[in-house]
Amino acid sequence: MSSPLLTEATRIARDFDYPAAEVQRGVAEYIRQSNEGLAKENTTLSQIPTFVTAVPNGTEKGLYLAVDLGGTNFRVCSVQLHGDTTFSLTQSKIMIPRELMASGTSKDLFTFLARQIEAFLRIHHNEHFEAHQRRRRDGNEEEDLFDLGFTFSFPVRQHGINSGTLIRWTKGFNIPDAVGHDVCALLQSAIDDLDLPVRVAALVNDTVGTLMARSYTSPGETGTLLGAIFGTGTNGAYVEKLENISKLQSMKDAHYDTHTGEMIINAEWGSFDNQLGVLPCTVYDRDLDADSNNPGIQMFEKRVSGMFLGEILRRALLDLHNNASVGLFKSSTTSKVSVPSDSLFYRQWGLDTSLLSIVEADTTKEMKDIKVALKDHLNIENASDEDCQAVKILTHAIGKRAARLSAVPLAAILIHTGKLNTDDIVDVGVDGSVVEYYPNFEGHLRDALREVPEVGPAGEKKVRIGISKDGSGVGAALIALVASKDE
Ligand code: ADP
Repeated sequence: MSSPLLTEATRIARDFDYPAAEVQRGVAEYIRQSNEGLAKENTTLSQIPTFVTAVPNGTEKGLYLAVDLGGTNFRVCSVQLHGDTTFSLTQSKIMIPRELMASGTSKDLFTFLARQIEAFLRIHHNEHFEAHQRRRRDGNEEEDLFDLGFTFSFPVRQHGINSGTLIRWTKGFNIPDAVGHDVCALLQSAIDDLDLPVRVAALVNDTVGTLMARSYTSPGETGTLLGAIFGTGTNGAYVEKLENISKLQSMKDAHYDTHTGEMIINAEWGSFDNQLGVLPCTVYDRDLDADSNNPGIQMFEKRVSGMFLGEILRRALLDLHNNASVGLFKSSTTSKVSVPSDSLFYRQWGLDTSLLSIVEADTTKEMKDIKVALKDHLNIENASDEDCQAVKILTHAIGKRAARLSAVPLAAILIHTGKLNTDDIVDVGVDGSVVEYYPNFEGHLRDALREVPEVGPAGEKKVRIGISKDGSGVGAALIALVASKDE
């Protein structure tokens, strides 16, 4: 007979069930919200046009630069595309001084970024750099510029492939005079002040970079359809027919190449169903959202991504811990478990999602890895076998629901784009620690895909999913390449 603890854990785990009928309801609603997003502004799914109108096929060649500003570090890299689906990448990473993030002017920040690009060129591409300086000195106007892809992970309103105005800063940045300005122009102007042989060719979203990187490196004839991130956050970008993006007609200042008849759309699917029409909602989801700094926002992301899965688990476990009649992590005559009062177990966001992967991966009877992880992550010592079993039951339920939810946008995009109607393989690139490390994430996602009638087992088999690393490096370089060909 099961103990009260395991009975209760199993009961809570059932709240995280996300059955086939619910997946299907989610897919239908995703298709509806995505069509709405293609038609007008200010919708739940933003469906942002990226002005990237072609995906690579692996034959692209050349040397490109990419920079990435999105957090505490600034990354500069050069990417040599060999034209045979392979590439070499050289990079440097510099921490951004705090005073430049929040108290200086935009000129201070962008001059700092340009100086890092200069230092990188001097170290890694000095010949090219000096040749450029020489030509300029000799009055030779012929330019031989590096095309650069600029990954800028803050909200921007994009007008073209290499222009976008900053809407607001996030993540600790606050330089008011940059807001409302074109961030590509700001970077270009700082680059020009230093007379560097660099042209800012493209403004890049990291999810689009994931799609591009996968399309270049993945084997086969057909380009990649979708790039998806399941890391700290979740988002996806896919190839859409231009004729379906009806809101482009009302974007008066938009400029883009039309000859492929396609454009990559950045779905911003973390905000899917913010109204909670179809997403599952347990008491833990509800409380996590209410206690977050953006209640009612990013509701899909709050059930799927690494930033939140650990916190959902922590809340469910805390419930079992506080329930005196079941007593998770409570000492008994046979076990002496200890949870110090300053344990991260009691702290909001204290449980990192990497713990879920460790728990799910430990299939041994002794559950030693789980016990070590509980000690390392939460300072919980001497957890009993039954405690670990309860942790496993809930972890499995939360991870499996996240993976099955992840099938919703994927199935919707497969159906909406009609890509399953041919015999071709449909290629999907994914990135992020959750999809990479959570055991059987892809397996659960595929189970749910098969349960969608318009996909079914035959459709699911056509989907090839592969890890796509380095969207902000090689992906950004590829976008710079596509942009330079557009001219
Ligand atoms: P980012 O999305 O920030 O570029 P990652 O893809 O590494 O970086 O995602 C980080 C997120 O993944 C964090 O929320 C972290 O808790 C979670 N995470 C880190 N390691 C693992 C793991 N082994 N299994 C599941 N989630 C993980």
